[in-house]
Amino acid sequence: MAKKEFKAESKRLLEMMINSIYTQREIFLRELISNASDAIDKIYYKALADEGLVFNKEDYYIKVAADKASRTLTISDTGIGMNQEELENNLGIIANSGSFAFKKDNEAKDGHNIIGQFGVGFYSAFMVADDVTVVSKALGSDQAFKWESQGADGYTIEPAEKDTVGTEITLKIKANTEEDNYDEFLEEYRLKSIIKKYSDFIRFPIKMEITSS
Ligand code: ADP
Ligand code: MG
Repeated sequence: MAKKEFKAESKRLLEMMINSIYTQREIFLRELISNASDAIDKIYYKALADEGLVFNKEDYYIKVAADKASRTLTISDTGIGMNQEELENNLGIIANSGSFAFKKDNEAKDGHNIIGQFGVGFYSAFMVADDVTVVSKALGSDQAFKWESQGADGYTIEPAEKDTVGTEITLKIKANTEEDNYDEFLEEYRLKSIIKKYSDFIRFPIKMEITSS
């Protein structure tokens, strides 16, 4: 599929976020875990209303997996998933995100105020990653899809393989620069402390897996 452009508004916001010199990049993990938790909530409420769908609490969890060799950080969930249309609508338009409903005069160039005050959502992943891949299989769907983007210039969506319902988000963590350390987002102690700091209240288990192969 040809690369699709983000809507104009999204592009501007995304560039602002990626380029912002923001000290709390770590909040990307809070955002992705909160989305994963929301997705599990959605399947949970569906299960309550649908007798055919049994909700076993053990089957619902969030996993944070880092692989140092490939510099990837993967956040996966067993939530409700997204079909092709939902990937397009939910991840293609930043302004759609409830969390981005802020006033024009808050659009400071450095992004400090905005990011500090509001949930920034999915796109905060681009503060630490130069490539983001989302593989998702929606509840009730046989086909999974992959959304991929390297940032402001757009995204692609194509069919993918995934056995189970849910979403797997893979961040290709940026290389360190002289000013910025990104390696820390592949370190177990660092990931654990970010999760403790921001995601302590999450009602589903957060499993962690660190590999360096
Ligand atoms: P918000 O959470 O404020 O709606 P986000 O930018 O964080 O904004 O996410 C945008 C939308 O993408 C969500 O509302 C949701 O519909 C969808 N989404 C993001 N992550 C997931 C996920 N892990 N599983 C299912 N849907 C997701
Ligand atoms: Mg969110």
